[in-house]
Amino acid sequence: MKTNLKVIFIAVTCCVAMSGASGQQADLVARNGDFWTVDEANPRAQAVAALNGRLIFVGSNAGVDKHIGKDTKVIDLDGAFVTPGFYDNHVHFESTGRLLYGLNLLDVSDEASFAARIREVDSRYAAGTWITGGDWSAYEEWAAGDVAEAGQEVNPNDQYGNFFLPSKGMIDSFTRARPVLVRRFDRKVYLANSVALELAGIRKGQPDPEGVAVERHNDGEPTGALFNPVSGAVESTVLIRDNVIALFGDLIPAPSRAQRIAETRKAWNKMASVGVTSYCDITSNPVYVDIYRELRNRGEMTARVRYRPPLDRWESMANLGIRIGFGDDWIRFGATKAWIDGIMGNSSARFYEPYTHNPSSRGIWRDIMFPFERSPDNPEKMQSRLERLALKADANGIQLTVHAIGDEANGYLMDMLERIIEKNGEKDRRFRLVHAQVMTDRDIERAGEMHIVAEVQPFHTSDDMRWMEERIGRDRSRGAYAFRRLWDSGAVVSFGSDSPGTNASRYYLNPMLGLYAAVTRKTLSGQPEGGWFPQERLTVEEAIKAYTLNTAYASFEEGMKGTLTVGKLADFVVLSDNLLTMNPNDIKDVTVETTVVGGKLVYSAHR
Ligand SMILES: [Zn+2]
Repeated sequence: MKTNLKVIFIAVTCCVAMSGASGQQADLVARNGDFWTVDEANPRAQAVAALNGRLIFVGSNAGVDKHIGKDTKVIDLDGAFVTPGFYDNHVHFESTGRLLYGLNLLDVSDEASFAARIREVDSRYAAGTWITGGDWSAYEEWAAGDVAEAGQEVNPNDQYGNFFLPSKGMIDSFTRARPVLVRRFDRKVYLANSVALELAGIRKGQPDPEGVAVERHNDGEPTGALFNPVSGAVESTVLIRDNVIALFGDLIPAPSRAQRIAETRKAWNKMASVGVTSYCDITSNPVYVDIYRELRNRGEMTARVRYRPPLDRWESMANLGIRIGFGDDWIRFGATKAWIDGIMGNSSARFYEPYTHNPSSRGIWRDIMFPFERSPDNPEKMQSRLERLALKADANGIQLTVHAIGDEANGYLMDMLERIIEKNGEKDRRFRLVHAQVMTDRDIERAGEMHIVAEVQPFHTSDDMRWMEERIGRDRSRGAYAFRRLWDSGAVVSFGSDSPGTNASRYYLNPMLGLYAAVTRKTLSGQPEGGWFPQERLTVEEAIKAYTLNTAYASFEEGMKGTLTVGKLADFVVLSDNLLTMNPNDIKDVTVETTVVGGKLVYSAHR
């Protein structure tokens, strides 16, 4: 008798846990769907119910009906496929908003589109706001979507390259009183309109400013094109000095709060439209924390954020009591970020061996590595500044996330992590190796042994494979974006976008492009046929998990996000197609029908 009672009690508790308090009226019910919950205990469902922003039921159509009351909003999904909201592990939020609301010239290399794009931004911006950025001609040399098929041939003897060169005459007529200073993707060349030139004192009859070459018409009138100095092997791939920005730096005001808010709304609208319900903000100006707070209080926030200050701020974070787990459902903290090498886009990532296409360079270390000094604990050993900071932040309960692209950069971090574990002891630290882009076999193994999080952005694969082998050779490319081996090693593979990309490439917020890249290992145009190093493919189920639960885990938030489970936040996405059954080659074209955050509709394709 006693035993039976116990069994019954357990059974009842189970039911409550599975379906929520029975009969509780929900704010939102979504039924008649094909839910892929990413919850291993309950992978499929037909319906969910949400109350006060959280899920109170995940199960069958029949089961959800008891939660429908007179005030419940009911969505009939008509059989559509649903996943948890996507959690982007790596968004440069401020620059994403600026690019979406402002100027993007990455794919522009002709007069008509150059003028048209600037005209469009001119019509959107408040009077007096400078138009900056742009990065024209990024895709002129390497056409987007192609493998090893160069676009335009670049003359190797011309240090500036024979790229498209705009002039102020293309934009002066409509930009009128608004200053414009836009740049080529490599920062070697800028284009200023007449107003901007005047403000900087660049005019006919005046000598060129120090360190900047001013292109002029025969009569001495500036054309608007301004050239940074370029010389030597290193500068042919990485621009060391940006004299143009130094010249204009003080003239260009910081964006107004109103502009930042407009950019923030634009970025969140974009996220909602592609199903991103949470993101890690890795580089925005600290003022964004207050902008998030303001918009959240106004009920305008539609994506949840985890904000990462730089590692050298760990002490002020710790003094405020900020550590892993700090924050609420919308705005959270607990991690820092640092960078130790460059990027593949301009061949500045740090490798053990020289670049295949540039034998004089192995890439660069970033400033945070210096000074290298004798370790306070062991004067025999030299230690980077990064390591001194990381040891202290880790000891104070702050999560470490560090950018590493080249194999030596990744190897250095694996060595450093071993020393951190030795000094500070084993604990649940979830070290995030940011990009984990090119790794040696040994480091992939160590990543698993130390249970790191590989914070990767799978679309990089689709983009970089166009020129990866030319730059680092076939053998090193084998360790590039080695998602399958990382996954199997025991590392936690987490996905995101790296939006908005570099000055060489655009990375989109749309998670479908990342899922497509991870599952097919092809470019957007479907090359190569069988996939690039296809043995590194993930299954679509794994890829979805990497973009939801694994990023939640990577942020110590798996108890509140990442799966559709009773008690977790009601964040989910209704898709146009069933990711699990469709042809993987078409995943890149899947669209979002509806996005729900905290039980509220934040996007509907048919509205
Ligand atoms: Zn990034």
